[in-house]
Amino acid sequence: MSSLQNRVSEILQGFEVSHDRIRAISDEFIRLTNQGLKSNKEAMAMIPSYVTAVPTGKESGTFLAVDLGGTNFRVCSVHLNGNGTFKLIQSKSVIPKSLMVGSSKELFSFLARHVDAFIKTHLDEKFTEDTESSTSQHILKLGFTFSFPVNQTAINKGTLLRWTKGFNIKDAVGKDVCKLLQDELDALKLPVHVSALVNDTVGTLMSRAYSAPGLGNTMLGVILGTGTNCAYVENISSISKISLQSDKNIMVVNTEWGSFDNALTVLPFTSIDSEVDGNSPNPGYHMFEKLVSGMFLGEILRITLCNLHKEGVLFSSSSESLELPWSIDTSTLSKIEADNTEDLSKTKETISMDLNIVATLEECKAIKKIVNAIGKRSAYLAGAAICGILTHTRALEKMETVDIGLDGSVFEFYPGYENLMRESIKYLLGEDEKRVMLDIAKDGSGVGAALCALVA
Ligand code: ADP
Ligand code: MG
Repeated sequence: MSSLQNRVSEILQGFEVSHDRIRAISDEFIRLTNQGLKSNKEAMAMIPSYVTAVPTGKESGTFLAVDLGGTNFRVCSVHLNGNGTFKLIQSKSVIPKSLMVGSSKELFSFLARHVDAFIKTHLDEKFTEDTESSTSQHILKLGFTFSFPVNQTAINKGTLLRWTKGFNIKDAVGKDVCKLLQDELDALKLPVHVSALVNDTVGTLMSRAYSAPGLGNTMLGVILGTGTNCAYVENISSISKISLQSDKNIMVVNTEWGSFDNALTVLPFTSIDSEVDGNSPNPGYHMFEKLVSGMFLGEILRITLCNLHKEGVLFSSSSESLELPWSIDTSTLSKIEADNTEDLSKTKETISMDLNIVATLEECKAIKKIVNAIGKRSAYLAGAAICGILTHTRALEKMETVDIGLDGSVFEFYPGYENLMRESIKYLLGEDEKRVMLDIAKDGSGVGAALCALVA
């Protein structure tokens, strides 16, 4: 074996997720799930959503949804037809950088003005009469998808814990983000009520439950995109950290599983991952996410290749892309993964286009193996965490099939990702794996937010 082959087989060993480890991960996941349901201080936060019903597909009506994510702000109207189908109109705008670091009034009045413009452009005039003359049926319910950490205390109440992703508006921290938006909507006299504060995982679950063909068994919503997270249906009585006077039995819980095993007791964490973590904005946190989600898979590959180059076993010359942190996108891995050519010409082409390096056949073979191992580890870990939830909820004991809604480019576009997830689920569940349904939740954040507004 060449020195490159030797080094690659060592690296592959580090990325491997054995059967024993899948079991250990699932067991630890169940342990931390139980801890998070009891206490507010856990990293895997198990945040109650206050959503206490899952759609059946028969819901109907027109709702507004707004989504404040990282870079874009989206406003949409969702018309639910009451038969699992919907009509969605949406407008998207970039959030000016200056508003990300200004005052909360500036940001939320910007959002309210976009809602105003959207209503005037896209909705009937019955919704644009002023509030005095509106009857309650003319008040539009709005679901607010807000992808920052909040301490949610009611379905439409949540105080901002901290900003992430480049936002830093100090006066908003500790305030109820629904009220901040409502105040600005009221200032414009819009007939809109902020009815629900929605996490994107909860929206994904709700949207899948609405669209799934009348099965009534959607139990999980999973995001595998820039980040990764999951929400699931829990018995209210098991969420012992909250006490609710409610006649409802279930509540959707946002796990924040990106922070699973920050202590690194079971995750297959390598020295390469430690470098990725060290260069990240939040070292030591979101450790599960750093092995699984789209934001990190490209960087794991880049650091691996960079190290092999420094050791003198890969590439005769370097390039700016190879040296520049975060320059490789996960779509590069998808292209290499998809290469079925005998001479790996697609891989060679991808390395030339995305890394600006001419690779030999031996190098292409080595890189394809590494890509394969990074993608497989991600999918196996996601599968193991899903098994943890399925085991915790005993869902497969209660139902013939369990349905899981998923969203995010990694799940949608990484070749073979679903099959890899299924392999890991099968290690733990055996033949029961066939009773687990995995499917994309279309337009999860818009439709999901509308559904949360409806059930509120
Ligand atoms: P968001 O997380 O912002 O909702 P996406 O679900 O589209 O958006 O996820 C974006 C992430 O998916 C990025 O980290 C990107 O690297 C990754 N990604 C984009 N295209 C692909 C692809 N073809 N295959 C795998 N991952 C991809
Ligand atoms: Mg998304």
